[in-house]
Amino acid sequence: MAKIIHYRNKCIGCAICFEQQPELWRMSKKDGKANLIKALLKNQVYQVTIHPSQIELSVRIAEACPVKIIKVTQSENN
Ligand code: SF4
Repeated sequence: MAKIIHYRNKCIGCAICFEQQPELWRMSKKDGKANLIKALLKNQVYQVTIHPSQIELSVRIAEACPVKIIKVTQSENN
């Protein structure tokens, strides 16, 4: 199972994630930060499970995020 973890409070609103993967991201009209669609807030961070086909692009976006607040985790336990 793969997950995206988003430390939203440090987002600078550059929109790279939204531009590259709009099926998972939206830009907030309220505060200009990125919202991870359907994510749950847990321990101060947003998390959502993603499909295996979304992992590769998600990892690239995590690397591209200028403040490195996106993490992609993978576990063997499905
Ligand atoms: S790429 Fe990073 S800093 Fe830019 S909007 Fe997305 S989460 Fe925020």
